[in-house]
Amino acid sequence: MFKKILVANRGEIALRIQRACRELGVKAVMVYSEADKDAKYVKLAEEAVCIGPAASSLSYLNMPAIISAAEVTDAEAIHPGYGFLSENADLAEGVEKSGFQFIGPTPDSIRIMGDKVSAKQAMIRAGVPCVPGSEGELPDDPVQIRRIAKSVGYPVIIKAAGGGGRGMRVVHTEAALINAVQMTKAEAGAAFNNPAVYMEKFLQNPRHIEIQILADKHKNAVYLGERDCSMQRRHQKVIEEAPAPGIPRKLIDKIGERCVAACKKINYRGAGTFEFLYENGEFYFIEMNTRVQVEHPVTEWVTGVDIVKTQIMVAAGEKLPFTQRQIEIRGHAIECRINAEDAFKFTPSPGRVTSWHMPGGPGVRVDSHVYNNYFVPPNYDSMIGKLIVHGDTREQALARMQTALNETVIEGISTNIPLHRELMVDAKFMQGGTNIHYLEHWLSQHKR
Ligand code: ADP
Repeated sequence: MFKKILVANRGEIALRIQRACRELGVKAVMVYSEADKDAKYVKLAEEAVCIGPAASSLSYLNMPAIISAAEVTDAEAIHPGYGFLSENADLAEGVEKSGFQFIGPTPDSIRIMGDKVSAKQAMIRAGVPCVPGSEGELPDDPVQIRRIAKSVGYPVIIKAAGGGGRGMRVVHTEAALINAVQMTKAEAGAAFNNPAVYMEKFLQNPRHIEIQILADKHKNAVYLGERDCSMQRRHQKVIEEAPAPGIPRKLIDKIGERCVAACKKINYRGAGTFEFLYENGEFYFIEMNTRVQVEHPVTEWVTGVDIVKTQIMVAAGEKLPFTQRQIEIRGHAIECRINAEDAFKFTPSPGRVTSWHMPGGPGVRVDSHVYNNYFVPPNYDSMIGKLIVHGDTREQALARMQTALNETVIEGISTNIPLHRELMVDAKFMQGGTNIHYLEHWLSQHKR
């Protein structure tokens, strides 16, 4: 096991990784920008290094600063968390070239999965079902593009190979096709320096279901069941849960086994998530995330596996401490992302937290770096924490979340707690199985 690792992230995930290190008896070096000097994990740290000013481009995205922080503190490995540089193959490569372990997959795996066209091709080869669409990147020739769209069938969605949700376009008619492809290409070129786009059938009412996997360096891999992340606004997840209501376990096992087979085939190591759209009993792969995800706690709770600790253990060369047979899904877990924003208008609400009271009791977990009198900086993502509950049944989990949300008091800034309170008593959500459009639809019906 490592003696010391560097945590190259901020916010709740930095604290989460710091906690995992403490349990493993590993020293954690925290890095922080000038805007984060008062974060809880910095105050709790034995060692912390300022890596630059508030702007992410000069701190959390600054590779040389991160690698030198590892050098000056004698860390052996770097945990990238999520967001920022966590899926940057150049960071993984730079870290390893400088003689450190990257806590994640190989630079090659990150590169293949970071390009959605090559990711889909790898998945097709590994026998993972994908959304029907263009075999690869779309050609330039309009005649060929039209022919592909016709064979896929309208509506289609045009997506950038470079990913990141930017510039996806749904096309309903042939008349709108070529213009949509050209606009998406131009945007993708500007945003990701890669104008390649591809086409998929646009699924009308899918759910977002994802499979968590863990793999070690000894060819062992397991899946830890699924998460339902269909409650999204602007493709951003708001509520996640495990297991996914109403999906037969044998369908999950079948797709889970495919994911594990794919991991073995591509020599994947570390934690990863296969994201699928699910419609009419079928799974369609859309992308793989090669890092820990925000919503990992719901899986931790229903499986009893500590995903972050396991990431560190397998990076240090240890074998997975469990086999697939030992993974059992127990009860139900739900996570609400707590954002510093107006609950219904979504305008960001950074600033001083004058009052912070978190809920507790059986089956309640709070992952947050915030505390009373903490100043939420305006420079980063609006997520300031996560409230997670577990119950023997989904009904019990819902009841616990309702109670937990009602106990929560956050003053000084606005948060989306009022939105979560309403969603947790919404009849359709309580029934379970809402699709990826449900939250946007609900919001349009509940304007204020
Ligand atoms: P990102 O890199 O932004 O996460 P994804 O490919 O994962 O991009 O897609 C993000 C979201 O866009 C999905 O969760 C889903 O809501 C929607 N989406 C993507 N592809 C399709 C599709 N073929 N049909 C319908 N919706 C889609």
